[in-house]
Amino acid sequence: MKTQQKLDKQFSCEFFPPKTDIGMENLFNTAETLKKEINPEFFSVTFGAGGSTRETTFNAVTKIQKQTGCNVAPHLSCIGSSKQQLQSILDEYRAQGIKRIVALRGDMPSGTVSQSDFNHANELVAFIRENFGDQFHLEVAAYPEVHPQAENAIQDMKNFKTKVLAGANSAITQYFYNIDSYFYFIDNCEKSGLDLPIVPGIMPITNYSNLARFSDMCGAEIPRWLRRKLEAYADDTDSIKDFGADFVSSMSQKLLDMGAPGLHFYSMNQSEATLRIWNNLKS
Ligand code: FAD
Repeated sequence: MKTQQKLDKQFSCEFFPPKTDIGMENLFNTAETLKKEINPEFFSVTFGAGGSTRETTFNAVTKIQKQTGCNVAPHLSCIGSSKQQLQSILDEYRAQGIKRIVALRGDMPSGTVSQSDFNHANELVAFIRENFGDQFHLEVAAYPEVHPQAENAIQDMKNFKTKVLAGANSAITQYFYNIDSYFYFIDNCEKSGLDLPIVPGIMPITNYSNLARFSDMCGAEIPRWLRRKLEAYADDTDSIKDFGADFVSSMSQKLLDMGAPGLHFYSMNQSEATLRIWNNLKS
């Protein structure tokens, strides 16, 4: 970490659990590189709703923690799981010295029907507080552009407040490319009496079609001008990466300058795009 500005902020990087040994080896290399360059507060590892990645998430979390010596925060989604299942996962994490959990509802794959003791993330946060007290730092998800299934923006904010008051310590946002949405969200939280760090999730831009598909699924908006610009590059991936690095770095810098408490990088298990942004941040 090079600078005072960077020292004052919290940086973290997200991974997904690899399915193969080669994927795991690549992830180790990514984690080592990001540790050396960014020295993040923590790495986080995603979790498939309904427990579909239970083993792979657990293995990735414990291996990365051992290998890098960094704090690792497992994501835990509650939809499709029983209290007993989540209690036993949390017991295992506690035994491994895990101190931070990203507590989520998750999305069941469409067409899947599964028994669940939980309907929303606030119930998971309350469950962890009830059974584990303050042993875990709890991160929750926030949606500056409003969660795609929310009844409306006002109700979404009320639901976010309920989740925070259930015992969350901090939040990480869904990615966005419109920084006004983030700062309006922060203002609204303050007006609702919420006072917790809300770290912007940063998605590097490296491939337009994947980004467009994923953004449609999770309700993140790609502004028209940005879409048109990325479409215009067609298969010219080098130009997409160059432009994406410039644009996302500049947005990240503005977020930090305007008071965001840090950045959470959706690394997609690769170090290159995240490091391009990191290296462009002001010293
Ligand atoms: P909730 O907070 O429960 O909100 C979901 C919806 O329900 C919202 O529309 C909200 O307004 C509404 N709602 C909330 N509480 C109530 C209530 N008490 N009564 C009625 N309505 C309510 N998904 C995964 O499967 N695995 C992951 O590892 C993962 N990691 C993520 C990490 C981050 C940082 C983010 C931002 C998202 C992640 N997701 C992950 C996606 C997330 O699971 C989905 O967006 C999911 O649809 C909502 O999860 P949530 O925890 O925000 O749910």
